[in-house]
Amino acid sequence: MEKEIRKRIDVKSMTLPELEEELVSTGEKPFRARQMYEWMHVKLARGFDEMTNLSKALREEYKGRFTYTALRAVRVQESKIDGTKKFLFELSDGNLVESVWMQYKYGNSVCISSQVGCRMGCAFCASALGGLERNLTPGEMLDQIYAVTLLTGERVSNVVVMGTGEPLDNYDNLLKFIRMLTDQHGLNISQRNVTVSTCGLVPQMKQLAREKLQITLALSLHAVTDEKRMQLMPIARRYSIDELMETCAYYFQETGRRITLEYSLVSGVNDSQRDAEKLCRLARPLHCHINLIPVNPVTERDFVQPDLSGIRAFQNILEKNKINGSIRREMGRDIDGACGQLRRRYM
Ligand code: SAH
Repeated sequence: MEKEIRKRIDVKSMTLPELEEELVSTGEKPFRARQMYEWMHVKLARGFDEMTNLSKALREEYKGRFTYTALRAVRVQESKIDGTKKFLFELSDGNLVESVWMQYKYGNSVCISSQVGCRMGCAFCASALGGLERNLTPGEMLDQIYAVTLLTGERVSNVVVMGTGEPLDNYDNLLKFIRMLTDQHGLNISQRNVTVSTCGLVPQMKQLAREKLQITLALSLHAVTDEKRMQLMPIARRYSIDELMETCAYYFQETGRRITLEYSLVSGVNDSQRDAEKLCRLARPLHCHINLIPVNPVTERDFVQPDLSGIRAFQNILEKNKINGSIRREMGRDIDGACGQLRRRYM
């Protein structure tokens, strides 16, 4: 009667040392953990039944002891323009997340979600519309990449955490995810090929700086005055642009890694010549790279992109000021490109 029901452990979110400790605690040899870790994170097994060098009895025992994250694709959309693929995955609790697979000259890149929904409330963003449901586990972040690898049959070389959610609002899970993704016993992706995008949570940015990772941190700036930024991003009420720029300098000082500034161009809102000039003044001391993203129209919102000549004019000002900037090529325009749109439509 009193028998304690042990909570099953989320095995795909365990680091190799954690898994070793867990298995050794019940009398297994450490090599068993390495074997299982390889099944999960290198061979990308979808469940214990695929772990054929484990006895049937052991596999059954593990099914009772662990939960095993394996996302199920419920929708796949492929762009006819550029081959970009967008995946809608169902999590074990029925929640849905989106991931995007993009092919570039230098390799394949996957954009993953870090949360179900988001609580940052940015005005132009589809992911913010329903608020935050929950954080994703490290295993759920990893498995977006694993599932996409299996479904496309192609190796992933770059990972960007720019899908739904604010990654630094899910800090501990994000860190564990990055460490496991770049672990030599796992997919072993280079830290330099991982980008994390944040709306600018200053304390977490400082904390991240002290981890001394070699990842790229991208800051979603989108406006050059606090007043305008507040209209677009509620988080701007908490942290000023001055504070953000100081934090970027600190990040560079601690890690030696240059920050990328993301700037979504919205017609008539943040695309004037003065905006461009101020953006140059902000970027110069930090040697930032600037990513210009023509705002993606979201059904529920009425933000519009500047026309092509407006975008070019903005970029020309950056060039004249010798600021490193590029217009983000729009990928998968024909397949609900903007974050969170596929999920919303499906729901
Ligand atoms: N929360 C993180 C990461 C997710 S959003 C962040 O804020 O950075 C990834 C990027 O897409 C951010 O720069 C975000 O501001 C931008 N974005 C969101 N919706 C957009 C839209 N409709 N058009 C253009 N960029 C958008």
